[in-house]
Amino acid sequence: MHNGNGKVAPDRFPPPVDSRKEFVKRGLDDEDELIEVGVAIVGGGTAGLACANRLLQLLADDPETLERLGEVPVAVVEKAKTCGGHNLSGAVVRPQALEELFPEMTREQWREEGFAFGEVKKEAVYLTPTSKLSVRIPTPPPFKNHGNEVISVSALARYQQRQAEDAGAYILTETSATQLVVEDGKVVGVRSGDKGRGKDGEPLGNFEPGTDIKAKATVLAEGCWGHLTGAAIKEFDLAKDREPQVWELGVKEVWKVTKPLDRLIHTMGPWPLKISPKYGQIGGTWIYPMKNAAGEDLVSIGFVVELEYADATTSAHDLLQTFKTHPLVRKILEGGERVAWGAKALPGGGYWSMPKLSMPGALLVGDSGGMVDTMALKGVHHCIKSGMIAAETIYAALKRSSSDLSAYEDAIDESSVGRELWEVRNARQPLQKGLLIGGALSGLQQVSKGKLPGRADWHRNDAKPMFIGNTKDVYVKPDGKYTFDKLSSVFITGNATRDDAPNHIRVQKHVPREVAETWTWMCPAGVYEIPDDAPEEGEVDVIVNYTNCVQCGAITAKGGRLTTPEGGDGPLYQIL
Ligand SMILES: Cc1cc2nc3c(=O)[nH]c(=O)nc-3n(C[C@H](O)[C@H](O)[C@H](O)COP(=O)(O)OP(=O)(O)OC[C@H]3O[C@@H](n4cnc5c(N)ncnc54)[C@H](O)[C@@H]3O)c2cc1C
Ligand code: SF4
Repeated sequence: MHNGNGKVAPDRFPPPVDSRKEFVKRGLDDEDELIEVGVAIVGGGTAGLACANRLLQLLADDPETLERLGEVPVAVVEKAKTCGGHNLSGAVVRPQALEELFPEMTREQWREEGFAFGEVKKEAVYLTPTSKLSVRIPTPPPFKNHGNEVISVSALARYQQRQAEDAGAYILTETSATQLVVEDGKVVGVRSGDKGRGKDGEPLGNFEPGTDIKAKATVLAEGCWGHLTGAAIKEFDLAKDREPQVWELGVKEVWKVTKPLDRLIHTMGPWPLKISPKYGQIGGTWIYPMKNAAGEDLVSIGFVVELEYADATTSAHDLLQTFKTHPLVRKILEGGERVAWGAKALPGGGYWSMPKLSMPGALLVGDSGGMVDTMALKGVHHCIKSGMIAAETIYAALKRSSSDLSAYEDAIDESSVGRELWEVRNARQPLQKGLLIGGALSGLQQVSKGKLPGRADWHRNDAKPMFIGNTKDVYVKPDGKYTFDKLSSVFITGNATRDDAPNHIRVQKHVPREVAETWTWMCPAGVYEIPDDAPEEGEVDVIVNYTNCVQCGAITAKGGRLTTPEGGDGPLYQIL
């Protein structure tokens, strides 16, 4: 199974999953056994809730159409304990889409509501050539954030939830949508997951079966290539003629600090990454000023790494811990206290990797549709805008009593989402040639604002042959005060997955050490373990401690599959 040079690609050990068979349900249950709603939105993150709010704004002025949608015109299905519980972002956002969604609100009111922390007035970008040195450079175009706003997406989702509920949305939290229901080639709703099953799937005393949720239109707003989104892409061949999706993984902490940070900071490495083509690590960091409800000064700090790397010992969590020991960071955090931690993957392919966004009966919005500009690390405004456009498309179709949602595709292309993603469609790919040559080519693409022709390709992250390198040698040993291990980090997420819940992580459990090491180091939550007595070379068993999982989604990029756990399981992020 090795390719002869100590390298193994994870895609040679695909997860035991048949998504069309398992995650697509053919036909609805009988009418008296299902819940009927007008529009079903899967995912109560920024994108899904923008869609719910916009739809309810439109319906508020149109009682006739509202009436036709029945008792529950808009339902949002969210697997976290509350909306926001599973949402994480940097997050400095371009404000226009949010201003458009809630036009009556001022930015001062965003801050009073507790999800926004101030307009960016100063910023600085650094290279970190070594563990001690930092060199300030002129701000490259993607990092220009003057006028943008620092927010918390988990707090924003909570705010959007309140707005949507006040406007009449039915928000089913602690509910996973586990199957897409397809009838006569059209999505007609989703099925919610069972609750109260034991380790082997057996019903426990508190067992509650899932229910079909029938809808006139369904919106998949599951975030980074979700469970049903993946099934829909296969079922309706939505990725045909597109580049494969690629991923990045971000680990973030929020710190209470002793003095306020007066600017936004980004660093572009190379330390502590190894940017040679052999290691293929591309990543960077952010440090953003924030405040909590009590007005105390906080900072958001995070490390993002592309999942295209080749060294199995790459760990975004440990890279962040190590990065914190750089003097540039120490002088900001020293004397402070870590108050939150989280991890999440994001789609990195941009324009060419976006799947077709509509299918009969359903639409993809936000990260589910891959609408992130990873040059600038920005997706929130695209999520909001795409949610709004989805709502407008659905509303227009409902008005004409039509179920044709295909107009969404062009509407996205012609909107700020399509225009901005088109401009940077070839800008990220050259970085895979290394920071020096790639950086120059990428710069050219950015300066041309997308006018240079061509389509730069992407390669699947799980097809990258992995080797066991020495990135791990740079990682600091956690001291429990300033630097932390994975398990104490998971602990502060409020992660609550029952010990006897069924395993929601699908991976092969007997794989070459290179693949097992990749999962062990990559997983920010310490889910994968290789037994101490496993052989140094060849195939090893992998232990999967799935109850630690924070549902970051990275495993899906590197040879496994995150499926939906029982609703309510997983982290409960507050301010990420
Ligand atoms: C580390 C990191 C840093 C980032 N920094 C920035 C930044 O600074 N600025 C910026 O603009 N963007 C940034 N982004 C991107 C931005 O955060 C995302 O584009 C955006 O938050 C995605 O919103 P979403 O609503 O599409 O998905 P999500 O926020 O992921 O929401 C999806 C929701 O769906 C729920 N869900 C998923 N599947 C199911 C299911 N089957 N059943 C029920 N519920 C389900 C999830 O629990 C979740 O609540 C960053 C992203 C990351 C990961
Ligand atoms: S097991 Fe969970 S936390 Fe770990 S990489 Fe996979 S999805 Fe992320």
